[in-house]
Amino acid sequence: MIKKTKIVATISDRTCTPEFIKSLFHEGMDVVRMNTAHQSKEGALKVIHDVRQVSEKIALLIDTKGPEVRTAKTDHVVQLKKGQQILIKGDPTKESTDECIYVSYIDFVKDVPDKTCILIDDGYIELKVIKKQNDALVCEASSDGKVKGRKGVNVPNVSFNLPSVSERDKEFIQLAIDQDIDFIAHSFVRSKEDVLAIQNLLDEQKSKIKIIAKIENQQGVDHIDEILDHAYGVMVARGDLAVEIPYEKIPGLQRFLIGKCIERRKPVIIATQMLHSMIDNPRPTRAEVNDVASAVYRNTDAIMLSGETANGAYPVESVRTMAKIAMEIEHTKEPFNDIQTVIINNPISAYLCKAAVKGSIRLDAKAIIADSTSGRTLRSLAAYRGAKPIFAQCYSKRTMREMALSYGVIADYMEPKETSHEFLSVALTNLINNYPLSKDDLFVVAAGNFGRSYGVSYTEIGTLENLMGNLVQ
Ligand code: PEP
Repeated sequence: MIKKTKIVATISDRTCTPEFIKSLFHEGMDVVRMNTAHQSKEGALKVIHDVRQVSEKIALLIDTKGPEVRTAKTDHVVQLKKGQQILIKGDPTKESTDECIYVSYIDFVKDVPDKTCILIDDGYIELKVIKKQNDALVCEASSDGKVKGRKGVNVPNVSFNLPSVSERDKEFIQLAIDQDIDFIAHSFVRSKEDVLAIQNLLDEQKSKIKIIAKIENQQGVDHIDEILDHAYGVMVARGDLAVEIPYEKIPGLQRFLIGKCIERRKPVIIATQMLHSMIDNPRPTRAEVNDVASAVYRNTDAIMLSGETANGAYPVESVRTMAKIAMEIEHTKEPFNDIQTVIINNPISAYLCKAAVKGSIRLDAKAIIADSTSGRTLRSLAAYRGAKPIFAQCYSKRTMREMALSYGVIADYMEPKETSHEFLSVALTNLINNYPLSKDDLFVVAAGNFGRSYGVSYTEIGTLENLMGNLVQ
């Protein structure tokens, strides 16, 4: 069985070694994510170096902090008791004490209205603002809890006047450009302007890095269409999203956002707490198994692990568990779906992609074979979430790695060839060398005869014997 849903794993330099990356890759990890909220530049460089020693097929993703607020950096843990009063102040240079929690945003007290709810650490801590003093908010804890340093702080429905890209983000974006990594996932994207702020930085240096917009508040949801006009893909960042928006709305929003991305042929990642209990336990909860399954049933491209692989006790088991659940659901789910896509650059290519996916299912082909320079054809094929894998020959290593976020695409790199016969010959040879096939196995070829930018101009369906025979004539 070939896994079609892609897996993004968050990796920390503290636990990273080439052997570790190799074992996660072997279990089905496709993309390595570095979370800059918890990583230094030196740490990120180490992870990039280790990943590149293992395989050039693993895509690298740097996740920025974006316009977010966190508790200030400290090792001190504030112990809260239900009903206890505590102050909150905005000052990133101070360390929290048992009397006062400091947060990274200097104007926090000014921007947060009286009587609002402040949520810390993915909402595990709730503080109610009782009154405002000059430079502090007097708050009351709704339950017992522990507040650690660098934890996320959310105030639902309050928009902070923070720049889209912080100075720290700029440093990491420069690192991403210098290292020529594959994706930047930008946090708290609220509108197209937040995406364009990153795109401008990339364009200034002619970087081809692709932007993933992290949707984690209501503004991002409201502006999803314009965000998709400019972003390469989307991450449904449920950690913050379920704090900023009532959590009971998250399943519906997850479906909505996956649907929007499919329509536009943009990769979509479902993130956060998918196998959270596996940070400490070797087996997932039943609810977690269902969560992974539900994302796959709903046709996501990718699913993500955070603490499970970054600092958990069972990282290899977490990737293995995710891959096992994903493959089982892919295998048993309805092969036909009613996916409709919009925004067609080339209607002929789009029509042939859809026909190729449908044909591969109806005729029970082994796979679709395609080639691509930019990846557009492959994303078009992937958008239909067909039951058969798409074996792709990519004429650029970057495109090959970008396919690490596209459902069902198994990508390889090959030198650009002049004719489609040459591409097919390489593709079939790769397949024969890597999979047990018989001469009667059927394949659907989706390729183009009118140049690289045109896309698919024909589909051909034949057995391995037919297709190989055609090549030698
Ligand atoms: C999230 O909030 O779900 C998320 C992925 O972002 P972060 O890990 O940066 O909080």
